Amino acid sequence: MTEEKNNLEDLRCIGCGAKIQTSDPKQPGYTPQSAIDKGLENDELYCQRCFRLRHYNEIAPVSLSDDDFLRLLSQIRNDDALIVYVVDIFDFNGSIIPGLHRFVGSNPVLLVGNKEDLLPRSLRRSKLRDWLRQQANLSGLRPINTVLVSAKKNHQIDNLLEVIDKERQGRDVYVVGVTNVGKSTLINQIIKQRTGIKELITTSRFPGTTLDKIEIPLDDGHQLIDTPGIIHQHQMAHVLSAKDLKYVSPQKEIKPRTYQLEPEQTLFMGGVARFDYVSGPRAGMVAYFDNNLPLHRTKLKNADEFYKKHNGELLNPPTKDELATFPPLERQEFHLTEKSDVVFEGLGWITVPAGTTVAAWVPKGISSLVRRSMI
Ligand code: GDP
Repeated sequence: MTEEKNNLEDLRCIGCGAKIQTSDPKQPGYTPQSAIDKGLENDELYCQRCFRLRHYNEIAPVSLSDDDFLRLLSQIRNDDALIVYVVDIFDFNGSIIPGLHRFVGSNPVLLVGNKEDLLPRSLRRSKLRDWLRQQANLSGLRPINTVLVSAKKNHQIDNLLEVIDKERQGRDVYVVGVTNVGKSTLINQIIKQRTGIKELITTSRFPGTTLDKIEIPLDDGHQLIDTPGIIHQHQMAHVLSAKDLKYVSPQKEIKPRTYQLEPEQTLFMGGVARFDYVSGPRAGMVAYFDNNLPLHRTKLKNADEFYKKHNGELLNPPTKDELATFPPLERQEFHLTEKSDVVFEGLGWITVPAGTTVAAWVPKGISSLVRRSMI
């Protein structure tokens, strides 16, 4: 047993240089034992990620420690490159890479809003792009362009590649993003679109790190470089189990649900979020959440009690066995002077008319915010 462990410690993937390990599929260098045996036999040991990349033109996501990631990012500043920054349009705050504006230095940033396929048709794309740009400005970035895509549905990927080619002006391209924004799906689409590439190379060019970086050769000898995703704790993905996450993250084009709400009424989104209509006239409010997420209306004055009694049962997800680790909901109040979207990050939003006061409750660590209505 010990001997095997010692052997493992000396092994590195010949594709990316990562240390071979058999314990965590999400960490760099993961390789099933059987593949290690086979690899050693043939003198060609690739980690699972590089193996898949070579054989299926497909990459699997890995996670990295924050330190490694920051070290990688800080190298970007020294390169003359275009930075493609991928965000989840349903979770801007959960997509933020802290300090990115410092790491990119004077390099231009192209902002890519992913998961466009989930937006209802009635939502004006140009408004969402403007909003994404404003949000990026708030975090200190001045994107040269903003593109909406669906990596999953292959929408606008051609257009994105054209924009990248135009904006990079003969430079390398770095694709950056936190986990869960869909960066791997996007890179896989890009790889698929660029078939004809004979050999996809994965190398570890950064000293002191064992990063499995994916380099996709571009026509002029430059590279499109996929950087590993950093884990952002403030995402629904870290609050719920993978199974429940499926029930709350929108999966298909959202069908808006309209509620005529009286003041002092509450709407529960399963047990993961809550919306209070505090004051204003009787009004139509439109909810944009996953089509299967159950919404429940109650009286505001009973809402606390109702939540205590029914969370994990009638109000689910979360499921009952997740309640122990599920964070408490925290309240934020908004006075709205124009028609606005009250955004529950990672979940969706409710469009609310002007002249109202409302409160949004989200699990501790997740954000809620208000933006001018997109519709
Ligand atoms: P990464 O961690 O950023 O590499 O993200 P992944 O590519 O693993 O995707 C995270 C989740 O988002 C997965 O459940 C994907 O199926 C989903 N996803 C990725 N791209 C899209 C998209 O364009 N639309 C939708 N609806 N879901 C997407």
